[in-house]
Amino acid sequence: MRPIGGRLAGLGYRDGVPLTDPGLVARMRPFASTIFAEITALATRTGAINLGQGFPDTDGPTTLLDAAVAAIRGGANQYPPGPGVPELRTAVADHQRRFYGLEVDPETEVLVTAGATEAIAAAVLALCEPGDEVVTFEPYYDSYAASIALAGAQRRTVPLRVPEGPDGPDQREFGFDEARLRAAFGPRTRLVLVNTPHNPTGKVFTRAELELIGALAAEHGAVVVTDEVYEHQVYDDRVHVPMATLPGMAEHTLTISSAGKTFSVTGWKIGWVHGPAPLVAAVRAVKQFLTFVSGGPFQPAVAGALGLGDEFYLGLVAELQRKRDLLAAGLDAAGFEVFTPGGTYFVVADARGLGFDDGVDLCRRLPELAGVAAVPVSVFTDDKEASRSLVRFAFCKRDEVLGEAAERLGRLAGRRTSR
Ligand code: PMP
Ligand code: GLN
Repeated sequence: MRPIGGRLAGLGYRDGVPLTDPGLVARMRPFASTIFAEITALATRTGAINLGQGFPDTDGPTTLLDAAVAAIRGGANQYPPGPGVPELRTAVADHQRRFYGLEVDPETEVLVTAGATEAIAAAVLALCEPGDEVVTFEPYYDSYAASIALAGAQRRTVPLRVPEGPDGPDQREFGFDEARLRAAFGPRTRLVLVNTPHNPTGKVFTRAELELIGALAAEHGAVVVTDEVYEHQVYDDRVHVPMATLPGMAEHTLTISSAGKTFSVTGWKIGWVHGPAPLVAAVRAVKQFLTFVSGGPFQPAVAGALGLGDEFYLGLVAELQRKRDLLAAGLDAAGFEVFTPGGTYFVVADARGLGFDDGVDLCRRLPELAGVAAVPVSVFTDDKEASRSLVRFAFCKRDEVLGEAAERLGRLAGRRTSR
């Protein structure tokens, strides 16, 4: 008889031996909580303005909201088909043709997922054997590391850094070293996981950079998985280049995106992945046992939104670019060194000028010090030192909220000098 109760109750057994630590498998222990949940809970507890977790504080297009209500009222409340409702798969294919000239078969080459997060996890789980390697860039979106660990695979990261130079930080872009990228590839490389536009740095990968990544992937027989959830949030004169549009790349690329960021509905968790039919079938095989399906009434609503006119997409860029500039100016005035992002709705800033060299410590104290919450960049890296003083702020908020946050952060400098 196994003893029950006491300190160990609920922890379970492995190989007949009572567990003395939480039952979470070792490879997932570094991922027991997420920085987004932690910082949002802190912001809620302290009443701070939450520029940590990336979610807009306004709703998406009214037509989209109305379409979801109508779908619920119209009875779209049972399981949708496994691959996603046909109108959304068709809308994804139409979107890829309209914006990028890609030809995608909605029947066999598109899969609807529970957000981009599920698409990423299912792709990694479907394609990696334990011990396989995944090349990605750091800082990386947190779910990449967790999905790779879940699969028992290994990440090989390539650092994104801002080169030192005479130009101001707003003129300097995050980039990577070609030799470091080449060195990350090896005989066990199975996947390359690329995020452009990139969270948290705001980097928009150039065509030349993507060509190099694609060429190395092809040379090593690796599949490229691209996370393009910020595809419609690209500023100034930059353009978003999907990896699948590069010559020869569509055959070994899985392209992932989602409705959350484009249509300001992060809670709906409607995402998709498209690519060659055999790769999409592999992802679908895993996805069936993660969620099977999700978001029945939201799927047709998103299908309609993807077809919104150019004025919607152009308006989104114009509005977010203005917000980017608003927050960047506020951070600059407050004494941060700001790295102006080319895309996404995040801005990374260095807190050293304010006397803070530890971003993790600063983000834990920022709600109390300034009534604002942000996330430290180093939690998204393996090399913590390189990004120790960097902090990420989200600017997908109403102007008055950004203005108030900037004003509060402005008092931070006064606080330091008055110490
Ligand atoms: N990838 C990146 C780079 C993200 O920032 C996010 C958060 N939107 C996701 C994936 C997850 O997207 P979703 O909410 O659609 O799962
Ligand atoms: N993608 C969002 C961000 O980077 C957060 C998503 C989450 O909370 N997991 O802020």
